[in-house]
Amino acid sequence: MSFEKLGVFKPLLDAIKDLGYTEPTLVQTRAIPLVLGKKDLFATAQTGTGKTAAFALPILQRLRKPIAGKGVRAVILSPTRELSIQIYEDISALSKYMDIKTTILVGGKDLDKQREALKNGTEIVIATPGRLLEHIENGLYLKDVEIFVLDEADRMLDMGFTKDIRKIHPLLPKRHQTLLFCATFSDKVRKLSKLILTKPAFIETAKKNTTVDTINQVAYLVDTTRKAELLAYLIGSRNFPQVLVFTRTKVSADELAEELKKDGLKCGVLHGDRTKANRLKTLHQFKEGKIRVLIATDIASRGLDIEELPYVINYELPAIPEDYVHRVGRTGRAGREGEAISLIDIYEKYDIRAIEKLIGKKIPQEVVEGFEPDPNIRRKDVDEVKLKAEHKKIENKRVRHYNRNRRDRVSNKKRKTTKRD
Ligand code: AMP
Repeated sequence: MSFEKLGVFKPLLDAIKDLGYTEPTLVQTRAIPLVLGKKDLFATAQTGTGKTAAFALPILQRLRKPIAGKGVRAVILSPTRELSIQIYEDISALSKYMDIKTTILVGGKDLDKQREALKNGTEIVIATPGRLLEHIENGLYLKDVEIFVLDEADRMLDMGFTKDIRKIHPLLPKRHQTLLFCATFSDKVRKLSKLILTKPAFIETAKKNTTVDTINQVAYLVDTTRKAELLAYLIGSRNFPQVLVFTRTKVSADELAEELKKDGLKCGVLHGDRTKANRLKTLHQFKEGKIRVLIATDIASRGLDIEELPYVINYELPAIPEDYVHRVGRTGRAGREGEAISLIDIYEKYDIRAIEKLIGKKIPQEVVEGFEPDPNIRRKDVDEVKLKAEHKKIENKRVRHYNRNRRDRVSNKKRKTTKRD
């Protein structure tokens, strides 16, 4: 399949070429014709599958003819500021040969500046639900919206945006197209889809939450302070030609790169604070073998297309267990053997349990000679971690108790009102 065959027009084809995409991904192949045909869409596709371009390309094509006097014509809702920025960057790159304006409305940025950008006219708005509502309250009209997108809808609902979405939806004109993307089906998403989609087409391209059998997974127990040292030791002693290393935060990615450079290892860093151009350059250098260690955060690594990567190392486990599956999926592609190594400290022993539950598999825990965790630190910290877990349990119990009481109060009140009736 090719982008031409999907009906994508020339200015977009040129931008696609500049980005180096040679052929459409599965979700793009399925979604582009449907969106161009103005169908509502319910798609399950995880980040990394090319889903942003799957909706961005046909939206840009549908809005290619500017209409004088029209307001916002497409609204893309996303759960987080980071994801919104990512979508904005992708749309900017794809629309580079078009005359179309995109505005991003997210929290943490100056409201007045965003209002100014809206005043100057914009066809596409990318927003988090809360911030979009703020602008609506300040006079933003959605009456000209032709396309409404909910990206990562499941995450948005989990984050408590249901009410906001329900407030926004009735403000759209009756006739509009809605595209709903989510990583997993859930009852909440299904309920929402019934409310906002009309005769949708379904696309399912989500990967399962199981790690491939050809990947050998192991976790090495180590003290936090000795992780960088152990990593350098593993790369050197096992003679890893190239390795992809994941960290939880941007700060630890930068710090780790500094540490490894001291050991003479050529490193590149990919995280959200680096520009897209810089990230592409780093990736290119890694592919050419000029960089031996590529350090990435989860967000920056999404959709990296690196062939035949034999080793993936989790320097820190991800905050979200599903991200472990994404990370590890970078190795062992297409039936090849791969190895995923996690360096875990005492705090992460709890995180690894959540991952094991998700993948339905035990990850063997081992110790590398010379890097044995200090037993004194362990005992003290275990107590602390246990205490925290205990506090959390009590807090959860308290919340459950409160909710139950509230429910009872509400139903008592209802009963009383009915009696009076
Ligand atoms: P997404 O699933 O939208 O987060 O996309 C993941 C990554 O894949 C992004 O960095 C895109 O730039 C990239 N990408 C999207 N479509 C393609 C394609 N057809 N070929 C290669 N890379 C792509």
